[in-house]
Order: sequence, then C-alpha cells, then structure tokens
Amino acid sequence: VKASGLRDLLGGSDSSGPVPRLVRLLGARGAMSPAQIARTSGMARSTISGVLAELRASGMVVEVRRTTSSHGVGRPTSFFALNPEAGTCVGIHLDFEGLQVLVADVSHSVLQESRIPLGVDYAPALAARSARDAVAAAYKRNGLSLRGVLGVGVSVSGPIAPDGRVQRASMIPRWAGKNIREVFEPVLGQPVFADNESNCAAIAEMTWGAAAGEDDFVLFKSDVGVGGAVVVHGRVLAGVAGGGGEFGHIPIDADGGMCRCGNRGCLELTASFLPALERASRSHRRPLKIEDLVALAKSGDAAAVRLVAETAERAGRGLGVIGAVLNPGLFVISGRGAYAGDLLLKPLVESYQRHFFIKRDDVPAALATRFVIGKFLANDSLLGAVGLVLRHRGRL
Ligand SMILES: [Zn+2]
Repeated sequence: VKASGLRDLLGGSDSSGPVPRLVRLLGARGAMSPAQIARTSGMARSTISGVLAELRASGMVVEVRRTTSSHGVGRPTSFFALNPEAGTCVGIHLDFEGLQVLVADVSHSVLQESRIPLGVDYAPALAARSARDAVAAAYKRNGLSLRGVLGVGVSVSGPIAPDGRVQRASMIPRWAGKNIREVFEPVLGQPVFADNESNCAAIAEMTWGAAAGEDDFVLFKSDVGVGGAVVVHGRVLAGVAGGGGEFGHIPIDADGGMCRCGNRGCLELTASFLPALERASRSHRRPLKIEDLVALAKSGDAAAVRLVAETAERAGRGLGVIGAVLNPGLFVISGRGAYAGDLLLKPLVESYQRHFFIKRDDVPAALATRFVIGKFLANDSLLGAVGLVLRHRGRL
C-alpha cells in the first residue's frame, strides 16, 4: 500500500479487493474491532488480520483503543480506525468569529492547524476565500499537490440540512439559508462535505476517541451553548431537516426566557455555561471564559465549584429528557465545560439519575447508562470535519 493510496482505495477503479473494502468500511463506520469487521463485511478473520497488519504497517490504520472484557478474562479487544493523518484531507470549522483550518497528510503529521479570525458575523464569501488561501499556502509550503485532496469537511456551529444548507438558529446569523457546498466548492475546487459541529464532534469521538467501537451513543456538548448528536448503528442521526440532536433547543420551560431560535424556555438558556459565566464575571468584575471558571473551580473556589455544579444539575434535567426518548447506553460529554472533569460529571450524573425514570438500582450494571468525558475537547469539531470526509468517501 503506497502512501498516496488512500484516495485510490476509497474511490479508485479497482476497489473490490479486501484492502479497499476494509478501508471503505472503516471510513464509513469509524473505529471497529476485527469481530465487528467480520460481522459487517463477511470477510474471513484471517483475511482481516492480514489486511489490518498491512494497513497498520503503511500508517493508514491505527489502533485506537484496547479493552478487556467486563469480566476481566479473555484476550483484550483492539479497535482500529483510519489514521486521520493518512491521505490529504482538509477540515474547516466555522466558529463564532472565524475559521479553524486543519490540513493533514500521509506522513502522520498535521501539516497545519490554524485559526483565521474574521470578526463577528463574517460573510460566507470572505470565509471561502480565507479557507482557500490557507489551504493553498499549507499545500505549497509542504510541496503537496492539491490533486491529492480527498475532500474538504466543514463543521458549522448550527443545524445543517442534508443538502448542506445552514438552518436558522445558527450561531452565525448571516449564514442562515446559505448552502455550505455552494459557498465553498466553487472557491476551493474540491468536494465539500458539511455537518453540524456537534455531529462532527461525535464523528471524531467514535472514530478515534472516547466512543471508539461504540455503535450507539449520545454526545452532549456543554459550552456557552448546548448541543449534541445521536449515533445509532454507527451513523449520526441528522433528522429530516438537520435538527436531530439539537438538545439546546429542547423546550423545557413554558415560562422561560426567549431563545435565539425564537422559542421560549429552551434548555440552552439555563443549562449552558452562559448564566454561570455572567454571574462569575459580575462578581469578579471582568469577563470570564469557561476556561477561567473551570480553573477557579479546580483551584477550590467555592463559588466557581457551585456554578459548575448548578450548570451540570440543569443539564442533567435535559439528559433525563434525552434518556426518556433514547435511553442510550453511553453519554459522551464534550464541550469546554467538560474541562471541569468530575466537577461537572458527578453532579451531571446525579441529576440524570434523579430525572431519568429508570433508576440505577432498577437494572443490572450492564444495562446502566455510562458517562465519559470526550477525548478531543480542544478540537473535536475540526478533527470530525476530517472524519466527515473519510466517512463520505468511504461510502463511494
Ligand atoms: Zn432555542
């Protein structure tokens, strides 16, 4: 397997052999164990281990997790995923005030991860031109051809319809109604795949992170907003218009305040970190970010600990709603709020236990819902944008 081969394997003419089949499967599903690969593909176990050894030697596949069985006996199970840095992929994350761009290549190194500030409510045309320039500069600097690009994944802070259109209630108002593909494809000259930032975060976690090898889980993002993603049978559920997993807009309080989506009493108004940050900023007489509040809480500041716990308590009520709809076996908690670790997780789980109608003592341990902190809190959406390209190319 040659280093340039990922594009050929995913979309080449001779794509019927076991190597391209396995690459496509890992591209579409994220991390899988050899047993899962065998079940899904029908390939023989001996073939699978041979192909995996070949792909690992070439750096296209990496082992992402190793677990022992819950009984602590038997051989450990390994999970394998496409190396996010194999093949050239571009990930772009559109955040509140600018772009993050990640370019990765076959040599196991991220060529460039950069942030381009564009100011509040930046224009789509400016974003597309800025992304094109950043990508071109990175490829030129590294002596790479843009012909080797598998695609460009774009992660957006807001709901995205299946055709790539940004729905209203986006964090960046000017993008409402804009089609991400139509904005970026003509300027970048590459196939563009777009998804909501929390869906991208879920793709990163299931491909290389805390949910590697999990077929079903819910990602809950705790930040200045509240977001999330629902993964069923290894696929992110976007919903018919892209509103699936938008937990921040669960209408939880009929008498609550107005939300930026136009509704009243959305979960985000109380369960995001904004109320805690406003309160902490007032008492410290300076604007505090989530990172500041978390640092204060970790240093033992009682008010900060209390504010984190109260945020977690209100989020746990939302998780109880999600529990009653989906009863997931695993919640992955992401977003910058998750930097608080157990200071967030413990009151969150306690609140979930209180609000979810099936109590921990009602079921055996194997049927209890697990909670873990995400692995890529700093750049999960950006990394997931790269994963988005692999998944879409994997379906070719
Ligand atoms: Zn709302």
